[in-house]
Amino acid sequence: MVLNRREDGTERLLDIAAEYANKGVGKEDDASALEWRTWPVEKRLEHALVKGITEFIVEDTEEARVNASKPLEVIEGPLMDGMNVVGDLFGEGKMFLPQVVKSARVMKQAVAHLEPFINASKQAGSSNGKILLATVKGDVHDIGKNIVGVVLQCNNYEIIDLGVMVPCEKILKVAKEENVDIIGLSGLITPSLDEMVHVAKEMERQGFDLPLLIGGATTSKAHTAVKIEQNYSEPVVYVNNASRAVGVCTSLLSNELKPAFVEKLDIDYERVRDQHNRKKPRTKPVTLEKARENKVDIDWQNYTPPKPAKPGVHVFEDFDVATLRNYIDWTPFFMTWSLVGKYPAILEHEEVGEEAKRLYKDANDLLDRVEREGLLKAAGMCALFPAASVGDDIEVYTDETRSEVRTVLHNLRQQTEKPKGFNYCLSDYIAPKESGKQDWIGAFAVTGGIGERELADEYKAQGDDYNAIMIQAVADRLAEAFAEYLHEKVRKEIWGYSADEALSNDDLIREKYQGIRPAPGYPACPEHTEKGSLWEMLNVEETIGMSLTTSYAMWPGASVSGWYFSHPDSRYFAIAQIQQDQVDSYADRKGWSMEEAEKWLGPNIN
Ligand code: SAH
Repeated sequence: MVLNRREDGTERLLDIAAEYANKGVGKEDDASALEWRTWPVEKRLEHALVKGITEFIVEDTEEARVNASKPLEVIEGPLMDGMNVVGDLFGEGKMFLPQVVKSARVMKQAVAHLEPFINASKQAGSSNGKILLATVKGDVHDIGKNIVGVVLQCNNYEIIDLGVMVPCEKILKVAKEENVDIIGLSGLITPSLDEMVHVAKEMERQGFDLPLLIGGATTSKAHTAVKIEQNYSEPVVYVNNASRAVGVCTSLLSNELKPAFVEKLDIDYERVRDQHNRKKPRTKPVTLEKARENKVDIDWQNYTPPKPAKPGVHVFEDFDVATLRNYIDWTPFFMTWSLVGKYPAILEHEEVGEEAKRLYKDANDLLDRVEREGLLKAAGMCALFPAASVGDDIEVYTDETRSEVRTVLHNLRQQTEKPKGFNYCLSDYIAPKESGKQDWIGAFAVTGGIGERELADEYKAQGDDYNAIMIQAVADRLAEAFAEYLHEKVRKEIWGYSADEALSNDDLIREKYQGIRPAPGYPACPEHTEKGSLWEMLNVEETIGMSLTTSYAMWPGASVSGWYFSHPDSRYFAIAQIQQDQVDSYADRKGWSMEEAEKWLGPNIN
């Protein structure tokens, strides 16, 4: 470069530089990498926080404590300074979520070391505010909530995390006792939306004056604005991701920022409500009758449904994790950690590749331990049943005489105008009773998360949120991998209609096989209570211990359940909006009151 011998010098130097990026520090085996150990203790603490290095944190914290006039100074001084650097870098997009969570682990270990010295002369905390977080009653998912908690802690908020399945009464009781500044509710499945409305109403009734945060997979700004906000006089804020939580909390708890923030919020939500109310459906609704006339066109007379090779119940207890690892779809794992990109390309991505590789290694190290030490257990089961469709429902029979109906499965049908396609309904893929063809349907339930909760709690108690989140993320992957593995086994052996199938994991992820495994709660069958029938048909709880909450969330959280359809035309679709005539019909078939129909079909009712 200096001698200017070739034109592409800059590019070549940058290429080489990239290889050395991030390699200068934090590597214990490299003497020069430990140069930071010679820095002043404040700088060392900051460095450890930013880089997420726990190795020397106790000794450095101790050194800072001895130097300080009181232990609290160490937290309020160098540790908070370090965390502020982390918060800023994250805010600027220069640090990624996994790194922030590792920083939090360093912070927690430092604070844990100082705590015994502070307790003696406990002083009022100087946090930015106290925030209560909870996953609502009936819901068990909390990776997102845990991440929000960590990110807020990194920004000096005190977090009271009540965990999962927390009833409204408990949330409000603790909020009062602990005098919190903000309540944050989380939920993954649609019935949780209703529970959040309930909490908002209760807060209003009991005269609470705290802001309420709403987050989680099924929540949205529209739902928050239309269904929740008007029930509560104080600010209700939809927070769509962890990095936004900090800005929202800062604004809500600052006397200077709050008025403008709330004013903007009110205008924004008013606009969202307006849009919602004026919304002309993009596609025209049709009557249920019309939709049924446009069912999926399958020529049943010229089709013979495959007969299962091994009907009956198949149970897999304490299933081999090593086998499941081959079936993992890694892309969603990176999404959980807010790293966006497809696996394996993400590992080489120029911006996030480095962090993705580290994360991938940590996950696999943990999976090695899961295998060796049996940290998590996987269990699953499936069975195939004689079945026939009757309108939008599917009759499942007790045996092959098909004389006695064992269960009726209820399905919804798409109800928008389809000039070119069909108005899909899952029952269309099962031979109609009047066709006289002998069809079958399968049911399955799998979990990769036996022991997940205990392990995550243990890690959390040790101040190690990184591994707490990691074990849940890994358990989720194992559950999905199990679903993939079992589906393959069903196609090749148990049902046996694709005995010669030989697909790579990539092709499995791309669903290049015959048949589908729709899961109740997902778009083709969004109504969650149908899991009740599945549980009853397989006797899931007694056999492998998986259970359903009051909102039909599966326990353990890292679980998948669904139906098997074998027809070559079967594919996934989304029910989307349904009309009142279908709500009435469905409620009638389920024996529901209108109130129950609203509760369970709510998000799909137009
Ligand atoms: N390979 C992904 C699968 C995610 S989808 C992963 O590992 O995370 C999870 C499950 O939902 C699928 O296995 C399937 O059972 C079900 N599913 C997907 N799309 C669906 C739809 N439109 N309707 C019903 N179920 C669906």
